[in-house]
Order: sequence, then C-alpha cells, then structure tokens
Amino acid sequence: MSKTSNSSEIGNNTKIGFVSLGCPKNLVDSERILTQLKTEGYDVVPSYDDAEMVIVNTCGFIDSAVKESLDTIGEALAENGKVLVTGCLGAKDDEIKEIHPNVLGVTGPHAYDEVLEQVHQYMPKPKHDPFISLVPDHGIKLTPKHFAYLKISEGCNHRCTFCIIPSMRGDLDSRPIGDVLSEAKRLVNAGVKELLVISQDTSAYGVDVKYRTGFWDGMPVKARLLELCEHLGKMGVWVRLHYVYPYPNVDKLIPLMAEGKILPYLDIPFQHASPRILKLMKRPGNIEKTLERIQNWRKICPELIIRSTFIVGFPGETEQEFEELLEFLREAQLDRVGCFSYSPVDGATANELPDPVDEAVKQHRLEKFMAVQEAISTAKLKQKIGQEFLVLIDEVHADGAVGRTYADAPEIDGVVHLTDEFDVKPGDKVWAQIIHSDAHDLWGVKVEDEQ
Ligand code: SF4
Repeated sequence: MSKTSNSSEIGNNTKIGFVSLGCPKNLVDSERILTQLKTEGYDVVPSYDDAEMVIVNTCGFIDSAVKESLDTIGEALAENGKVLVTGCLGAKDDEIKEIHPNVLGVTGPHAYDEVLEQVHQYMPKPKHDPFISLVPDHGIKLTPKHFAYLKISEGCNHRCTFCIIPSMRGDLDSRPIGDVLSEAKRLVNAGVKELLVISQDTSAYGVDVKYRTGFWDGMPVKARLLELCEHLGKMGVWVRLHYVYPYPNVDKLIPLMAEGKILPYLDIPFQHASPRILKLMKRPGNIEKTLERIQNWRKICPELIIRSTFIVGFPGETEQEFEELLEFLREAQLDRVGCFSYSPVDGATANELPDPVDEAVKQHRLEKFMAVQEAISTAKLKQKIGQEFLVLIDEVHADGAVGRTYADAPEIDGVVHLTDEFDVKPGDKVWAQIIHSDAHDLWGVKVEDEQ
C-alpha cells in the first residue's frame, strides 16, 4: 500500500485498506474477503492515509515470510494505527500480540466470516443495498484480468515434517464441485483466459468427502480431480494444474492433456529423490516408481511439461543422498525446477531431527543443484528454437510484449519476449516462432493471431 493517494470520498467510515502477502492460495482468500467487503458496501482504498482501518492477510510458511508479515503489521500500525490481522500467521495469535499488542484483532487462515465480524465490530456495515452494488459477478480479483487462481480445497491430510500448513489450515476440506465449476464459469465469462487450479494437494481433491456427487449445469458430477478437469476442459480456456502429487489417479489426467483438453503441464513438488530423506520428510507418493511414471506419461503426452521444487540440506542428508538427488534430476529431465536450501520453520517436527547440515554445505549443494538444472533447462529451451507456440500475452511495455506458452505458469516459470511487438494486448493469444533462448526464457516473433 502506498502512503498517500487520491481515493474517492464515497461514504464515511467505510474505507478499508488491504495488504495481501504470501502464496496464490492466500491471494484467493484475499479476493474472497475483498469481494465480501465490496458486497457489503465498504470502500477498499489503496493507501494507509485514506483508510480508516487496514487488514493484513499474512503468510507464515517460512521464517522470511513470518518476518515480512510481522514487519508489514508494524508498518500498518505505524502508518494507520487500526489493524486487523488474518491469514496463516494469524494461527499464531500469541506471537503476533506479543510483538504488536495494539492490533485490533487476529484471525487464522480462510476465516472469512470471522474477519468480517471483526470489521463490523470496529466499522459497522455501511447502509448499502447489495442488489444495486457494482461488485462484478466474478467477485474481486487481484490477478490480472486474463488469468485467475481457482482454489479447489483448503488444508491438507499429510504431515510433511518440514511443513506447518496442516497445523495452520487444518485437514483437507474440498469445496463442493458445483461451487468450483460455477466459479470457474463466472471467471471465464468475465474474460479470464487461463485458470490455475490450486490447493495444498490437488490430486487429493474430493478424498475427504468420498468424492461426493454434486450438481453443475443440471448434471450430477463427482467431486474428483478427473471429473473436475473434464468439465474445466470444456470451458475453452487454458487449465493448468498446480501442487499435484504423483498418485495413481494422476495417470488418468494425462490423456486429457494429450487431447488438448487441459494444458500438458504438471506442477509436482517432489522435494527430494532419496527414499530415506523422503521418509524423514514424510512425503506422500512413491519415489521408486516416479521415473517410470514420468516416462510413461511422456509416452502418452510427449509435450508434457513437469515443474517441481526441491529442498537440499534437509537434516541428515548425506553427500551420497544429495548425489542421488542430482542423479534423479539428470534422469528425469524436468522442465522447470525451483530449489531451496532447508531452513527450519518454527513449529515443524523436522526441527527435532538429528544431524543438521552445515550452512556452507547447504549453500554449496544448492549451487551445485542449480547448475545441473540450469544446464538441463538451457538445453531444453534451445530445442524450442524454430518451433511455433501459442503465446498468451501478459504485458506490453516499452520494448514490446511479454507472454507465456503452455509450458510456463505466471510468476514462477519463464516468459517469451516478443521484442518490438506492440500490436497485442494482455490476454491476447498469438502464434509466435521462437528465435532465441537462454537458461530460463525464450524470445520469439509473432507469426499470426490465434484463429
Ligand atoms: S503435502 Fe506436505 S508440504 Fe504440502 S501442505 Fe501438506 S503437509 Fe505441507
């Protein structure tokens, strides 16, 4: 939020500032809270000075996110004075109040009703008729208009030892399939060209409700990932799956990708490749079969892109286990990879594991890992030179347009630079021929608009 702005002067005591931190899942929570505030007639303003009160939606995943959240709360208190805190860090009520005793209220993740109750307590609902309000049918979105995150569930049934999300967000809680599909349809009707399906564990969608049958478009539909993807695949937009674990049910999605119904893209956070380290991490899925599965998937759908994240320097990781991880990386030839060196998260059970890895060793392993992956990524992107891809335009700036092919998710993967191309706008899809590449990005020239 900026310190000053020229916001509108609609109504008294209805102006709320909002700061959203953290991951796309938190962004979706922010969108829901903002939609409800707008529906009730509050005015959301972009500066601390204009706001009567500020809501900070926090992240508490890793230490740096906790620090950013606490710093932001401090800034909001200093600049505005009236602050409500919600989101993941809100699960640690005591910690927040110890550092910032003056916050008005604290709620945990996805506590939409409680946040609104606290808002009402300090700033009564404006006199407002929701039937004449200008809240768009698809709600308030914080992502650019042409892509949107579609959250299909909250929480997680796993207990990975490095993660505190289940203790903050609870067990898996799948949204009814009718609600998810209706939201997707509203977004598509509002002009969204790409739906990014997110949750903590996308492949587990519906397990908690025993794949309960819901209704959408007058038809019964089971709350299961395959059915969800089949229906999303009929909406005529890009559908991209994030946070998928390699459970057997994922095999059934590959034909949908090969047929072009959903994007041939899987974001699978493998985290490691040594069976012993994965056991210490208590990760779901069976790594022994993973390489075989990847090969089978690629036979069915050769254009499949796999993105993943890994952790190096987990407690007890030996040099040999790290080499096992590098060997996996070389064999799996993943397309997009992120890597973190392990850092203890307050409250995670992995903190009790013996044999922490020395910081310098962790750093060395991280660099070695990234060098191996960079060589893979450079070679893979080079193979694309000369080929034509459909590019979804994200932005147009002084040098030309920047977009993404199906192989790249927004914000985390690479981009395609269409230098000197100005005859496009965000949300357009154009065919482009690739003329250059580096380790992460591509450069291309527009060939024609999408027919
Ligand atoms: S799968 Fe593991 S890392 Fe992911 S949210 Fe669940 S417990 Fe955390």
